[in-house]
Amino acid sequence: MVKVRFAPSPTGYLHIGGARTALINWLHAKKTGGKFVLRVEDTDEERSTPEMTQAILDGLSWLGITWDEGPHFQSHNKRIHQDLSYKMLANGTAYRCFCSKEELERRKNELAKPEEWRYDGKCRGISKEESDRRALAGEFFVIRCRIPDGRIEWDDVVKGKISFDASQIEDLVLLRSDASPTYNLSVVADDYSMGITHIIRGEDHISNTPKQIAIYKALGIDPPLFGHLPLILGPDKKKLSKRHGTTSVIAYKDEGILPLAMFNFLASMGASLDEDRCLAREEIVERFELQKLKKSPSVFDRERLNFINGKLIGGMPLDEIRELVVPVFKKLYPFLPFPDDKAVNLMRSRARNVPELATALYPFAADDFYYDEKVLQKLNHESVTKNFLGLIYKLSSIEDPSWSAAEIEKALRAYAEERGIHAKELIHPSRLFLTGKGESPSIFDLFEAMGKQASLKRLERGLNFLNAG
Ligand code: GLU
Repeated sequence: MVKVRFAPSPTGYLHIGGARTALINWLHAKKTGGKFVLRVEDTDEERSTPEMTQAILDGLSWLGITWDEGPHFQSHNKRIHQDLSYKMLANGTAYRCFCSKEELERRKNELAKPEEWRYDGKCRGISKEESDRRALAGEFFVIRCRIPDGRIEWDDVVKGKISFDASQIEDLVLLRSDASPTYNLSVVADDYSMGITHIIRGEDHISNTPKQIAIYKALGIDPPLFGHLPLILGPDKKKLSKRHGTTSVIAYKDEGILPLAMFNFLASMGASLDEDRCLAREEIVERFELQKLKKSPSVFDRERLNFINGKLIGGMPLDEIRELVVPVFKKLYPFLPFPDDKAVNLMRSRARNVPELATALYPFAADDFYYDEKVLQKLNHESVTKNFLGLIYKLSSIEDPSWSAAEIEKALRAYAEERGIHAKELIHPSRLFLTGKGESPSIFDLFEAMGKQASLKRLERGLNFLNAG
């Protein structure tokens, strides 16, 4: 059975890259009927905090990523990791290294190119007897993994065959002199004891993989499959970072992004899924194929996130969207009545997020909104002054029950013809007077959704405004 894991270090919020990793793992588990394990890698005691652990769990839950096992805490397994390093010491795949930090530093600085330093294997050849004796005498030591010569290779699920020359990898430390296990040892020990079959993580971990494979080999265990997801880049094609704006996933909640939109967006930055609509989670699972993960970096495209969010808002059941927008509207305008379904349904077609929809609904509830200054300046004031009283009169002749987009359009166009003007001369100012803006859904739908009385009142207000100016 497939068993994947997401293994965040709780040293910060769940960021875009981490969330994408979690999501790809989750999709693979769901697709294959496997299990998704959550493991919190909290071994860096100074940088890990319970608040950040909670923030990561909140971020995952917000996205709809559920876990079948865990959260396990890596720090709780310290003893198992220590045991494992001693097991390796006993079978000779690891050895004690007695070189002090200062000594290593000195040898490093003796090199012509100190930056190319790798542990030189000085303690590799110490006999078991001598090693035990020095340990018993109380000398400080670390335990290092003996990396065998040759090549370390794996068939990366995303990147294909990857091969490292083992001589480029130093005999890595498994256990520090204070007996704390290192990251690579802990990860291998946990992945193995948790029965992980696929390790899918960010490309920034590629350099750890040969070290981890070496540990598996030393233990005589077949390593799991590895897959390394390409980087996520900012619009400037540099690695996504705080410089590019918010990278914490949950912060997008406050920007009006809905979790399913974020889910789609993240999925499209790893899986081959370039849809111009927002899919249900089940549909994404259905389409997901591990073998078809994207090989090249994805660019974090904020506009696309907005676009997907807008698609979701435009397509979700009206009840659900009302549930989302009413509280926001009430917070912004506590004393105004919430507009009816017709208004919500119309205005959501253009809104990219919930707060945007709430503000777009304001003109349906009140008529004291500002007019967009730029649009106002472009209006032909003379034409409005000349034609709008007549337009109001014309539209008011439509009987209440016939107040529909089709009837309104007919009347407006007929009136334009009577006056020998282009319909645009009526449409553009009407849009501004009804919404305060230069862009909106179809003006005729807008008239219909706003209702006869409110529409005419807003046209009158606009006309008076121009006359007064
Ligand atoms: N804890 C590591 C991180 O947050 C991930 C380790 C792994 O996936 O192997 O980057």
